[in-house]
Amino acid sequence: MDAIKSKKLILKLIALFAVLLCGLYYYCTIYNCGEYQTSFSDVDTELLQLCVDKQETHAPYYALYALCVTYKILPDKAVNMMCIGESRSAFYIDRWPVKDDIIQTFINIDAKNSGSAKDETRAKKAAEICISLKKINNIIEGAFPLDINAKYSYSNTFGAKRTYGGERLHEGLDIICKSGTPVYSVTDGTVVKKGWITLGGWRILIKDSFGIEYYYAHLSKYVSGISVGDTVKSGQLIGYSGDSGYGKIGTVGQFVAHLHFGIYENNVAINPYVFIKLCQKNKR
Ligand SMILES: [Zn+2]
Repeated sequence: MDAIKSKKLILKLIALFAVLLCGLYYYCTIYNCGEYQTSFSDVDTELLQLCVDKQETHAPYYALYALCVTYKILPDKAVNMMCIGESRSAFYIDRWPVKDDIIQTFINIDAKNSGSAKDETRAKKAAEICISLKKINNIIEGAFPLDINAKYSYSNTFGAKRTYGGERLHEGLDIICKSGTPVYSVTDGTVVKKGWITLGGWRILIKDSFGIEYYYAHLSKYVSGISVGDTVKSGQLIGYSGDSGYGKIGTVGQFVAHLHFGIYENNVAINPYVFIKLCQKNKR
């Protein structure tokens, strides 16, 4: 009899232990114990696609950032800091721009952790990411390239086929707007090119302190007095949108009026769509 009783007790204890184990497993799944997991369910899927698909979009900063969060390249603690006041299992692209103190935290935590070769690689990666974050902030904290209250529209046409002047891919963003809409410099920088080119018509190229170049094309005219070598501020008027280009100097009317906006780093075109979308969101 006693043997049966103790057998029952053992079975009960095993069942209790199993229930506790299941509970713990469930808790860990929900709260990501020891494992930082990301959920992108609330993020604009179009933006996310651009972030993840690095090859397709040439949006390296977002890709880098999305990947570093997904694969926990950065310390969990720092990632958690970015999610203050919200679910720690979520990372929202909406959180841009990343504030300076958070960037500093990335640097500090990685400096503390460095020691082994593996950690050094991680610290180096973190430092690279920090610089990328600053570059991104510089763009999306900058001015919207058009009057935010003007009538405009755009979609992601980066990489679309273009045929004028030979087959090529579209290297920027076309913001459709009325001819004569004021165009503003997105960031602080220096005017490095100005004047007519066949593809871009009246265009202006501005370089920021990170060496990133911003290309504004098809203008109807420049703001008076602006010259190569001038420094400009974010939000400074640089010209007016139009439909110039696709021909010899002064050609207009070959397409609908719009601002062609491009971003280049080391002469490689980066898709401006994500940045402009975030920049616009900040201004609303
Ligand atoms: Zn264009």
